Amino acid sequence: VQCDVLVVGGGAAGCVLAARLSQQPHRSVVLIEAGPDFPDRAFQPEVFKSPRGDPVFDPAFSWQYDATVTSDQDQPLDMVRGRVIGGSSAINGSEFIRGIAEDYDSWGSELWTYPQALTALRAAESDADFTGPAHGSSGPIPVRRVPTRYWTPLHEGFYEAAIAAGFPEKPDINQSDGSGVGPTPMNVGADGIRVDTAIGYLDPVRHRSNLTIRGDAVARKVIFDQQVAIGVEIQDRDGISLIEAGEIVLSCGAIATPHLLMASGVGPADHLRSVGVPVVQDLPGVGQNLRDHPIVSIPIRVLEAAGTDEGAASSPVLITYTAPDSEFRNDMLLSLPWRSQTDLIEGMLGFRCRINLSLSSGEIRLKSAEPTARPDIHLRYFEEEEDRRRMRECVRLARDLARQPALRHMIDGGLGLSEEVIGSDTALDAWLRQNAATEYHSCGTCRMGSVREIGTVVDDHCRVRGVEALRVVDNSIAPDCVRANTCSTAVMIAERAAEIMDSP
Ligand SMILES: Cc1cc2nc3c(=O)[nH]c(=O)nc-3n(C[C@H](O)[C@H](O)[C@H](O)COP(=O)(O)OP(=O)(O)OC[C@H]3O[C@@H](n4cnc5c(N)ncnc54)[C@H](O)[C@@H]3O)c2cc1C
Repeated sequence: VQCDVLVVGGGAAGCVLAARLSQQPHRSVVLIEAGPDFPDRAFQPEVFKSPRGDPVFDPAFSWQYDATVTSDQDQPLDMVRGRVIGGSSAINGSEFIRGIAEDYDSWGSELWTYPQALTALRAAESDADFTGPAHGSSGPIPVRRVPTRYWTPLHEGFYEAAIAAGFPEKPDINQSDGSGVGPTPMNVGADGIRVDTAIGYLDPVRHRSNLTIRGDAVARKVIFDQQVAIGVEIQDRDGISLIEAGEIVLSCGAIATPHLLMASGVGPADHLRSVGVPVVQDLPGVGQNLRDHPIVSIPIRVLEAAGTDEGAASSPVLITYTAPDSEFRNDMLLSLPWRSQTDLIEGMLGFRCRINLSLSSGEIRLKSAEPTARPDIHLRYFEEEEDRRRMRECVRLARDLARQPALRHMIDGGLGLSEEVIGSDTALDAWLRQNAATEYHSCGTCRMGSVREIGTVVDDHCRVRGVEALRVVDNSIAPDCVRANTCSTAVMIAERAAEIMDSP
């Protein structure tokens, strides 16, 4: 055995977990990451500093999967994920937003409740703007909102239009109560530079003699002796080798973790046999329950009065609200993101309408037994009428905001979507299905739950059912997406899992 714990995947959750587990000096921890590591930040490309997610489509730092969004779209969507130390937290939009209490109370375990999630979220952050029982002041991730003096006139107009439309002001979106319009919390330092989980959690503890970090090492499959996980086959520049470990934790994220499990023989038995993977453990839930946040962008052409901004956030202000007649609180999010030079030159940007709690869910399946072959990803957005209904309302809300005096003088010719389409449920549904995209917030594909529930993959100690010495700690264990961006939840999951792994 080469280490006590092998953490596979140095992403949002994996970096947190490796840092927390290696606090115990007697425990040897190895963290492997498929993408590059930057032990000396001086050699990290500048592009990572921007909080806006500029390296997103660079294949040197991202996995690029094809995903079908709806059956009406001819072309697959480029489903990117971070492939670098820090994972998707190194390339994302740096919006550090929490779910609401109901999101964390629905996990069905007394080990995973809102009070426990809140403790972990507080431990993770240093909030520069708010104190009190909801916030932390000494955690590794700095959180701050873009001060209003840096907002563009367009974002000020969006805020004013929301107030005029009746949304309450919500200065702290990360408070679990209420809804409304407010500034976006971001994981950036005072200098506006991104602080991902590798920078926040891992860099300060790299010197630990019981922690080894290996970049550019791709896990191919978990190796089992009977039902006991004993190691991971990896590929790096020297070829294929085995890292043996007393315990293995998969933190590859909600796409790659179920992929790796299935490639290793843990998943729906019929499906595994159909692609030629020998079955270690039949677990029908692996790769199912793919939850995410569907979005549509309603194009607008802005005038010079909208201003421009090269730094700051892509979306410094947002609205969270409950869709009319919805049974789910704060199930929608609306923003007007992205003021960049390119936007200004092209004059095009858009209202971003998002379902924060979608009822439709998708799946991930293997294409072949070869571990490096990309999996099939089907998001299956808008299969449920309730999702279409809520999104239709959101598009109409965006249209109404665009007509508010605070915004309309900055918009050239109204929305880039005709009133004929907006006014017809049938036409708008067709447009939604054609234009749906994703927020890249995938969750749920190895969901936690009790043994009695169909489709659960891990127990509340994050242990994979039916095998030994194997856990999953990343967003794939969340039963659903939280009603917020999902990075802080990945951090929470790892903080909480480390505590659980440390308790007797
Ligand atoms: C483009 C984009 C924008 C986003 N914007 C935001 C935002 O603004 N705010 C927010 O809260 N959330 C955002 N998210 C989502 C958020 O980043 C993720 O929810 C979060 O990072 C998930 O954490 P994770 O640990 O589950 O997975 P990840 O952070 O994706 O980490 C998985 C890690 O595992 C590694 N890995 C995968 N397979 C292997 C393998 N076989 N061997 C070795 N290593 C492997 C990957 O390279 C990666 O480093 C965004 C995501 C994307 C992709």
